[in-house]
Amino acid sequence: MNLRRPATDAIYLDYNATAPVKPQVIEAIADALAMTGNPSSVHQFGRAAREAVEEARERVAAMIGATAAEIIFTAGGTEANNTALAGAGRRRLIVSEIEHPSILRAGETLSQNSSAGGERELRVLPVDGDGVVSLEALDQALGEGGEDALVSIMLANNETGVIQPVGEIATLAHARGALVHCDAVQAPGRIAFGVDSLGVDMLSLSAHKFGGPKGVGALFLRAGVDLKALVAGGGQERGWRAGTENVPGIVGFGTAAQLAAEDLQNAPHVAALRDSVEQRLRAIDPEVRIFSAGAARLPNTSCISMPGVQSETQVMGLDLSGVAVSAGSACSSGKVEPSHVLRALGAPDAETGCAIRISFGWASREADVEKLVSAWRAFYAGLSARYTGGVSQSPDGAGAGAVER
Ligand code: PLP
Repeated sequence: MNLRRPATDAIYLDYNATAPVKPQVIEAIADALAMTGNPSSVHQFGRAAREAVEEARERVAAMIGATAAEIIFTAGGTEANNTALAGAGRRRLIVSEIEHPSILRAGETLSQNSSAGGERELRVLPVDGDGVVSLEALDQALGEGGEDALVSIMLANNETGVIQPVGEIATLAHARGALVHCDAVQAPGRIAFGVDSLGVDMLSLSAHKFGGPKGVGALFLRAGVDLKALVAGGGQERGWRAGTENVPGIVGFGTAAQLAAEDLQNAPHVAALRDSVEQRLRAIDPEVRIFSAGAARLPNTSCISMPGVQSETQVMGLDLSGVAVSAGSACSSGKVEPSHVLRALGAPDAETGCAIRISFGWASREADVEKLVSAWRAFYAGLSARYTGGVSQSPDGAGAGAVER
C-alpha cells in the first residue's frame, strides 16, 4: 500500500487531535506485532502475549496511580466513555455541556433509548465564561439524593484545554451517593494527576493523545465498583470487555504510558511555546481572542479567534504554508460545525466561527512557533490587502457576519 506522506518540512501543531507516535512506541509495537500468540491461549505463544498485555496494564495503571486489576483495555477513549455511561447502571446521567461527543451523544442515546438498559435521564450542566463547570449547578442537579446518579465531567477540554475541578466535583457527588466518571483523555503527559487525588470511580484514557497508537484506550474501574459490559462475547478483560486483545496496540499504549512522565517534565517548555504563540499573535492583532485564558488550562493548548477570518479559511491557509492546526474539534473535522464548546462559553458566532486550535506536544520546537507565526502573519497580511475597510463577508464568502480586516 502506498501511504501518502505530508511534506517533510510541514509542521504538526494538532496534538489534541492525535499526537505523533513516539519512536520507542513504534519499536515496541513492531516487536509485539511479530508475536503470534492469543493472550487467552495456554501454550507458550499465548503466555508470551498475555505477559506483554499484563506488563502494559501495569504501566498504564502506574501512570494514573491505579492497580493493574483496575484497568480495562478498550478500543479507545470513545469506547471507554460509552462503557462508563452505559455500564454504571445509574438512572440519572449528569454531564457538562463541554464534554466530548463520546459523552454527550452516548448520554443522549441512552436517555432516548430506554430499552438499552432501563430508563435514563440526561442532565447537562452549564459552564461559566471560561468554560469551567459550575459546582452550584452540579449541587442543584444532584438534589437531595444522588444514589441513582452518575456524574461524568472531563478533566481537560480538548478544544480549550480548560481543566475542570474534578476533585471538588467528586467530593460533592460522593457526598450525595453518586458515582463519578472522568474523561481524562487529554490529560496524560500534560498535567500530573492520579485517580486517588481526583477521587473518581471511573476514568477514561486514550493512547493516541500522548504518543501511543490510535484505537486503543482504557477504562479505570475502581475496585468494588459495579459495571455491566458493553461489548459481550468471550470473557476477555475479566468479562468487562470481550474480544481478543489488541496486543500490539496495548503494548504501544503501555510504552507511551511509561514515557508520559518525560512529557510532564517537558510541560514547562511546551507551555512556553504556547504562551509565546499567544503573545505574538496578539501583537500582530490585539483583537485576537484567546478562549478560556482566565482559567487553568493544559500547557499545550491554545484556542484562538482571529476576528473576521473563518476558521476553515485559516486552517486551509496555514496548511498551504505547511502548518497543521485545527478548527474547533478535530474529532468532527471534515464537516465544520460551530463548536459546542465555544458556544457554551457564551461566545458569539462571529468569534466561534473564527476560532482555531493550536496544540503542542512532545516533539514541538521553537522553530515550530517561528513557522506558525510567520505563516499566520503572511496569511493575515494577504487578507488585509484583499479585504480592507471592514467588509462583512469572509474571504471565501462562507461566513455571514464576519468582518474582514
Ligand atoms: N474524549 C476526549 C476529551 C477527546 O478529546 C477524545 C478524542 O478526541 C475522545 C474522548 C475520544 O477518544 P478516541 O479518539 O480514543 O476514541
